[in-house]
Amino acid sequence: MSPRTLVLVGAGHAHAQVLLSLAERRWLQPDQRVVVVSPTALAPYSGMVPGWLMGRFTHREICIDFESLCQRAGAQLKLAELDSLDPDRRTIALSTGEILDYDLLSLNVGSTLRPPPAQRQQTILCLRPLSALREGWESLLRRVEASGHLPSELVAVGAGAAGFESILAVSHRLRALVPAGPMRAVLVGSRGVLPGHGILARRCAQRALDSAGIEVRTGQRFGPADAADDAVILWATGAQAHDWQLDPHRRGNLAVDAEGFVRVDRGLQSVSHPEILAVGDCASLADPRPKAGVYAVRQGPVLTQALQQRMSGMASSTTYHDHPRALALLLSSPREAILSYGPLGLAAHWALDWKDRIDRRFVRRFNPAISSSTLA
Ligand SMILES: Cc1cc2nc3c(=O)[nH]c(=O)nc-3n(C[C@H](O)[C@H](O)[C@H](O)COP(=O)(O)OP(=O)(O)OC[C@H]3O[C@@H](n4cnc5c(N)ncnc54)[C@H](O)[C@@H]3O)c2cc1C
Repeated sequence: MSPRTLVLVGAGHAHAQVLLSLAERRWLQPDQRVVVVSPTALAPYSGMVPGWLMGRFTHREICIDFESLCQRAGAQLKLAELDSLDPDRRTIALSTGEILDYDLLSLNVGSTLRPPPAQRQQTILCLRPLSALREGWESLLRRVEASGHLPSELVAVGAGAAGFESILAVSHRLRALVPAGPMRAVLVGSRGVLPGHGILARRCAQRALDSAGIEVRTGQRFGPADAADDAVILWATGAQAHDWQLDPHRRGNLAVDAEGFVRVDRGLQSVSHPEILAVGDCASLADPRPKAGVYAVRQGPVLTQALQQRMSGMASSTTYHDHPRALALLLSSPREAILSYGPLGLAAHWALDWKDRIDRRFVRRFNPAISSSTLA
């Protein structure tokens, strides 16, 4: 018998693609339904977050509108978070107290970070989850604008792509607000800047940091006690699993890896519960990928096909194989992006134009109503 209820938890990059396919190709049968669970109706697209921090885009421009997407797909959107999962009873409990039954469940809930508490008058801006970043960032901008003072120190902890792009973006934006203010900017990474990228891209990154006056500190643990009393700290360390994934009372006997990420096979199916699929940052393949949006995007079509087959009562025959290399285009200044692909690395204006075209096209696919006005 075909499943009746498909529940998609999380407004992640792969679920956006599933909903778009449903809107365009209507592959559900009349007695089937899709429910989407997300705490917010607007989901920021990670590739454009640094551009938003730099002031190149509004928050609305970087978001996928899940409310409108769900309407077009004929799916019901529940504005709530998954609080716990009972995989044996096939139910999830939501933050609103509601219990939802599912026949098929797909998880695309991303990842989180657990920064230490701020000390003295410090502000910590945590880069995950992205929805929480908006509040902290907009309130910091209002404070700096109103006071006309910059913090004496801006620190980014974590020198991967997120920490690198966001310190450049935030430092540029704050200095544009208060050009004369003194502010020391420091990027802290245990393995140097952009570990995992080729030497040429890393050299470009170092040049971009030098010309923005940002110091790099490597090889040491850093906590708020090491920063100035009024420091703004961007917390961008490695992705972590959500609390419910780490807690056996809240995830039941769903198989997770040592860090709490949901263990899936090449079909993106849970290794313990075949009626649960998981993708993007929250999932863990036997051959793990870095926690990057590009993999959630690449898994979207595979997930869509698997869900479509399963909702038609067939076994899923689709498997996920990706190219071991991924192209990264990293915002390094208001005029340039760094292209990093395997050993290739360069910084150029055209790379920024290219990045903008790719990112805008991605978001525009899901938001046709604003494509001609805001994003054209
Ligand atoms: C500043 C910054 C820049 C980045 N730039 C890039 C880049 O250029 N390229 C790249 O590849 N990667 C980039 N990344 C990494 C990227 O953000 C993540 O890897 C990517 O967003 C993961 O996508 P996802 O679809 O798995 O989850 P997400 O896009 O994080 O989506 C998860 C969704 O699930 C929702 N959710 C969470 N918990 C629950 C719950 N309990 N119940 C219901 N819903 C829930 C969230 O609200 C969110 O909408 C960047 C990250 C940061 C912080």
